Amino acid sequence: MEPASAKSTIEQLATPITVFDEVSPQRAVLFEKLGLRSVRDVLFCFPRDYEDFSDVRLVDDLEEGLLQTVRGRVTEVDSRGGFGRTRVGVIIEDAQGGALRATWFNQIFMRDKFKPGQLVQLSAKPRKSGLRWEMAHPRAAWLEDDNAAEHDGLLPVYPLTEGISLYHRRRLSELVVEQFAEVPEEVFPDDLLQRHGLLPLRQAIPQVHFPKNDAERDTAQRRFVFQELFILQLALAARRLQQQLSFKAPVLPIDAKIDARITRLMPFELTAAQRGAIDQIAADMARDVPMNRLLQGDVGSGKTAVALFAMLLAVAHGKQAVLMAPTEVLARQHARTLDALLKESRVNYRLLVGGQGDAERREVLAGLASGEVSVVIGTHAILQDKVELPHLGLAVIDEQHKFGVKQRAALRTGDRSPHYLVMTATPIPRTMAMTQFGDLEVSILGELPAGRQPVSTYLVEPSQLDRWWKFVQDKLREGRQAYVVAPLVEESENVSATSVEQEFERLTYGELHGFRVGLMHGRMSSDDKEGVMQQFRSGALQVLVSTTVIEVGVDVANASVMVIASPERFGLSQLHQLRGRVGRGGHPGFCAIIPQEELSDNARGRLEAFASTTDGFELAELDFSLRGPGELFGAKQSGLPPMRIADLQRDRDVLIEAREAAQQLFSQDPGLKDPEHQKLRKQMLYRYGKALELGDVG
Ligand code: ADP
Ligand code: MG
Repeated sequence: MEPASAKSTIEQLATPITVFDEVSPQRAVLFEKLGLRSVRDVLFCFPRDYEDFSDVRLVDDLEEGLLQTVRGRVTEVDSRGGFGRTRVGVIIEDAQGGALRATWFNQIFMRDKFKPGQLVQLSAKPRKSGLRWEMAHPRAAWLEDDNAAEHDGLLPVYPLTEGISLYHRRRLSELVVEQFAEVPEEVFPDDLLQRHGLLPLRQAIPQVHFPKNDAERDTAQRRFVFQELFILQLALAARRLQQQLSFKAPVLPIDAKIDARITRLMPFELTAAQRGAIDQIAADMARDVPMNRLLQGDVGSGKTAVALFAMLLAVAHGKQAVLMAPTEVLARQHARTLDALLKESRVNYRLLVGGQGDAERREVLAGLASGEVSVVIGTHAILQDKVELPHLGLAVIDEQHKFGVKQRAALRTGDRSPHYLVMTATPIPRTMAMTQFGDLEVSILGELPAGRQPVSTYLVEPSQLDRWWKFVQDKLREGRQAYVVAPLVEESENVSATSVEQEFERLTYGELHGFRVGLMHGRMSSDDKEGVMQQFRSGALQVLVSTTVIEVGVDVANASVMVIASPERFGLSQLHQLRGRVGRGGHPGFCAIIPQEELSDNARGRLEAFASTTDGFELAELDFSLRGPGELFGAKQSGLPPMRIADLQRDRDVLIEAREAAQQLFSQDPGLKDPEHQKLRKQMLYRYGKALELGDVG
């Protein structure tokens, strides 16, 4: 036993990094920018990557492009230049006589570090220049004859900021790890460590920062990945429990009579997938625990009908339902669908959008407050500020990626909460559904309604443009309609993408001369937008040139052609949404993507993948792997702090293991009251207490 330290663990971990002489006040400011203030911050700021100095080779075996290490004796040291530009050159010879030249520019002091005859090792990505292998600015280590092994490990790579070099950042980790790695206390009970083969914390800390080899890195990393995911899963379980205890939702069970009454209103036979989702939703709504369900279904899978069913179920019990759409165009479209459905019924439903006059808006609000209006359809924005819905039973959120905890909190009053149904066509990768959105249940519509037509997609090369537009003209003459989508580009923006206005002019005077072409973009007033949409819907316009305002939900059955200009500017899921606007009626759909720029291999690969599959799920996974989750489902959307070490793609298996383990532990000890679990509980609250509104759990 060491002499009892006067300081508690927490106090020791709070030690500021300025206690090290190496950390000057100026540098401390820079480190703080990186989120590093205390010893604790440094210990738990995990490397983002590693440089591998373990690939030691003979000069003869070197390859370009990989980080490699060569060991040898210094044979020559030379230097050139005076003020300004200097160059130091060092030649070493390996055990078989292979020669390698290393060069440093403007680091004249390197000259004095090398002496002929010394045994050194140099690491960098080598280049072959003529017959000789060279390294520019290699990392150098000076080897005593027998300590070579100490220098062949992995070195950590951390996020940096201007003024902090990787060298300084590593040095900080070295100092802190050396002195404080033994301080933090294990958070996992022993049996858990054993059961899951986890490295104990005090071993894992030095090893995650300075592993000797890949295997060491992997075991240390796995321990922290497991911990991070485990704590998150505990937090999600705690949130679930807490929601159940703190909020009551109205009990809205379904019975045969209600079911028959609603089903009768539907203009089509529900698909088996729709029926399945409805069953799951109805089961949720029959409980007094608020439903938090995500309805995920590819474009055109018929999510609206499922939502309307659920809304009518709420209405059947005398409750109110809201449907929130991301755009006004979409809100109006939903209202029209309801018009058709509810013609014969007595359900009182209203639209609430920005374009309405004050008088009408007041009337709708009054109707909602009195309970006279039972269904309201509007945009997310409008329905989130102070609308009184005293009898709210169900809130449906359509095509929304922002369904974080905060959004859902908006419609609660006191301890009463409505049931929530969130709909999206952009599939959430499974790992995301289990983490960032882990408090949502998921229903999937895996089948398209019969009668949906396939959409063929073409990546149109410049030489094929004439033929393509000729094809579009033919379709228009046959009576079909077409969309042309182009990005909204500001005049000043100096990019080669076509803007929607240019495209409109070009087509009206060019390829689509003589056809009735309309223009719509997000900067038009909502009345103007609705006017154009109306004309397109009625067939008065044959072609709609637009920005991505039509991206989600727009449903015009007679439109069978989609042309997308500058597709390289859109994500795959977004392209897929756009493509989903066609092939909706009895006519097969056609989609052309027309790049405006010379495509990089990468961009071409993406677009070819898009043209070759119609599976939205596959495309979303591809987008996810190419661009990471940030684009669509960033931490911002979920409202949770970002992961520190877990990578949801790489760590899928650990996630599943950690999730099971956490759920099991939580079900055995729901409030985490067991003294053995106090550290886990603390960690959970420390990390997720705020984001998940975990008050005092249990
Ligand atoms: P999304 O899931 O993309 O929101 P929608 O709800 O807009 O899809 O439905 C797409 C189209 O399919 C609509 O025109 C809708 O009327 C139609 N539809 C939905 N369900 C069925 C069904 N069971 N049978 C036939 N058509 C259906
Ligand atoms: Mg929809």
